[in-house]
Amino acid sequence: MTNDKPTRPLASPIYPATVYCCDSPAQASRLLAGEVEGFIYSRDGHPNAQQLADQCAELHGARFATITGSGMAALSLALLSQLQSGDHVVVSHQLYGRSLALFTSEAERLGITATQVDSGDLSSVRAAVHEATRLVVVETIANPMLNVADIVGLSEIVHSQQARLLVDNTFASPAICRPLSLGADLVVESITKVMNGHSDVMLGLLCASSEDAWDRVPGTQTTWGYFASPMDCWLASRGMATLGLRVERAAANAEEVARWLVGQSQVERVCYPGLVDSSDHPLAARQLSGLFGNMVTIQLQGGLAAAERFISAVAQAIPFCPSLGELSTTLSHPQSTSHREFEQQQLQQLGITGGTIRLSIGIEPPAEITAALQAGLTALD
Ligand SMILES: *Cc1c(COP(=O)(O)O)cnc(C)c1O
Repeated sequence: MTNDKPTRPLASPIYPATVYCCDSPAQASRLLAGEVEGFIYSRDGHPNAQQLADQCAELHGARFATITGSGMAALSLALLSQLQSGDHVVVSHQLYGRSLALFTSEAERLGITATQVDSGDLSSVRAAVHEATRLVVVETIANPMLNVADIVGLSEIVHSQQARLLVDNTFASPAICRPLSLGADLVVESITKVMNGHSDVMLGLLCASSEDAWDRVPGTQTTWGYFASPMDCWLASRGMATLGLRVERAAANAEEVARWLVGQSQVERVCYPGLVDSSDHPLAARQLSGLFGNMVTIQLQGGLAAAERFISAVAQAIPFCPSLGELSTTLSHPQSTSHREFEQQQLQQLGITGGTIRLSIGIEPPAEITAALQAGLTALD
């Protein structure tokens, strides 16, 4: 059945169809060769993924964009389309844990060598990049201490060796940073987090602007089977319609909450790139949109015992959910979740203790958030 009535729906339809009808062998052949636009088999593309990819491409100022079933799928699509046996990759040691595993142990199984660096130290990145290096991987705002990557500085180093810079922009979203405009070659987002924003869809984005960087992506995607469900794409498309509004509000809240936390005696340290005395603030002010994101990380006095008391005291208002970018404020405890497999020395290097709490600030009235945090801090006295 098609909609042959004179009106059209304002909200876009969902197309669960796995396959589309061809008019003739000649048309089928041209469709499959990509010589004419259109859909034929949904693993290769479908209208809902296309719509979401177009929205993402516009936000990132990207020429090419594609949607995958998760953020990790977008990262592995980047790996498989950019690297092959014998290549070398340089990765920030602050990458999301699964990303680090993907670009080190998984990549090594495929014959790709990896070097981990402190991507905040450009001289160590320069020293790690050599002729066999094809890819350098960093995050715009890294988990959990919220260090900001110098994308402009990194891209100069990376391009001096004919390698490509892949930036995972999940903590920022395109409302806060557009890495392609700063010199990155490829950008990944976990749409699951801030971009969808409603904690009900798992999807990823890979985008780029140069034909060179994109060359292998479509073929790799369809051959390795990186599909995204039409229903999920439709939901994410709806979530993304409010991205700018949500991010603006959450970032303003986060700034207010971070300033408030600085004045609290139970809090030893507040990490937020929007605080003017943060060491990353000048870089963040240059590279981010003037908003500094919705993530705030704090160190409580009293270590793990204090964190446990705090988490249980705020649990009703601020649930412990090890993800981020929800509508409402949530928190995570890196030492027991994202960084549980790290050695003591690595944790120390990153500045993570038992008292480290990562807050993902939502869009509630800010007074509600500070009241809940106040109750948690009072429980420590
Ligand atoms: C969550 C996350 C990912 C992985 O995304 P999924 O959608 O969970 O697969 C990658 N990078 C960062 C920074 C993340 O926070």
